[in-house]
Amino acid sequence: MFKKILIANRGEIALRVQRACREMGIQSVVVYSEADRDAKYVKLADEAVCIGPAPSAQSYLHMPAIISAAEVTDAEAIHPGYGFLSENADFAERVEQSGFTFIGPTPESIRLMGDKVSAKQAMIKSGVPCVPGSDGALPDDPKEIIRIARSVGYPVIIKAAGGGGGRGMRVVHTEAALIHAVQTTKAEAGAAFGNPEVYMEKFLEHPRHVEIQILADQHKNAVWLGERDCSMQRRHQKIIEEAPAPGIPRRLIEKVGDRCAAACKKIGYRGAGTFEFLYENGEFYFIEMNTRVQVEHPVTELTSGVDIVQMQIRVAAGEKLPFTQRQVESRGHAIECRINAEDPVKFIPSPGRITMWHPPGGPGVRVDSHAYTNYFVPPNYDSMIGKIIVHGDTREQALARMRTALSETVIEGIQTNIPLHRELMVDAKFIEGGTDIHYLENWMAARKR
Ligand code: ADP
Repeated sequence: MFKKILIANRGEIALRVQRACREMGIQSVVVYSEADRDAKYVKLADEAVCIGPAPSAQSYLHMPAIISAAEVTDAEAIHPGYGFLSENADFAERVEQSGFTFIGPTPESIRLMGDKVSAKQAMIKSGVPCVPGSDGALPDDPKEIIRIARSVGYPVIIKAAGGGGGRGMRVVHTEAALIHAVQTTKAEAGAAFGNPEVYMEKFLEHPRHVEIQILADQHKNAVWLGERDCSMQRRHQKIIEEAPAPGIPRRLIEKVGDRCAAACKKIGYRGAGTFEFLYENGEFYFIEMNTRVQVEHPVTELTSGVDIVQMQIRVAAGEKLPFTQRQVESRGHAIECRINAEDPVKFIPSPGRITMWHPPGGPGVRVDSHAYTNYFVPPNYDSMIGKIIVHGDTREQALARMRTALSETVIEGIQTNIPLHRELMVDAKFIEGGTDIHYLENWMAARKR
């Protein structure tokens, strides 16, 4: 096992990885920007290295600074967290070339899955169900594009092969708008992602977002740990996640989960990963794979009892997965609310000093956050300042626990989306379960009227 790991991230995930290391008896090094000097994980760190000024490009995205920090502290491995460099194949490659272990998949796997066209082709080969669409990138010939769209059927969505974070997509409802939409998306994709390739999919109108968590080791073992429903989103940003996904027949989920694990074996995947699907009319459609730990991993940790971050570290060190698929269990129900420092109505970021931080507690309540009373939320990064996660024997109990947890939470000095979560936890449709990915935006539009 590693003696020392460098954590190349910030915020709650830096603290989460630090906790995993501490529990495993591994020393950890945190890197931080000047804006994060006072963060909790910096204060709690075994070692901390300042890697540059606040802008991410000069700190958390600055590969030479991170690799030098690993060199001067004698770290053996680098955990990239999520966001920043976590899905950057060049970074993974540089980490390994510099003699460190990258805690994640191989650069080849990251590259394969980072390009949505190649990812989809690999999934089709492995028998993972995908959204019907163009087989690969769209050709240049307008006639051919029109022919493909007719065979897929309108509405269609044009997506950039290199897209991410909900960017580089355009929905097309009519043939008249098709060619212009393809050309615009191509131009934007070239400028934004350095890759003008686009592909076409059938646009699903009322899907849910359901994803499968997998874990794989370097000895050809792969398991799936359950699914998460992350349909509650605004502008493609998830705000509530839960496990299991309400109302979906277990046999359907088991089938798709087994396919995901088989696909991992086929592509030689290692580490943690997530297969994201849209779910509509009883069918799963693969949209993309995330080759890293996700923000919402705790809901799966609570239902499966598996510490996903510790597993990432163990398989990166070459250990075998300590359980088989048959030993994976799913117990009870878990819900996560992401706490964002933002205006709960206008969604404008609300950085600044937290004058009072009182997180909730009690049975089945977990809070993953780097915030504390007197912590200054820097304006430079993502607005998420933590997550409240609850677990109960049933979905009803989990909902009741989340309501109690939210009612106990006091955060003063900045605005947060806690009021929004409080409203959603008593919303009849959410309580019923199974709302689609447009539900939150429609709900907000109705509230404004
Ligand atoms: P990103 O990497 O940008 O997150 P995804 O491929 O995961 O891109 O798509 C992001 C979101 O766009 C999905 O969660 C879904 O809301 C929407 N979307 C993507 N593909 C489709 C589709 N074929 N039909 C309907 N919505 C889609």
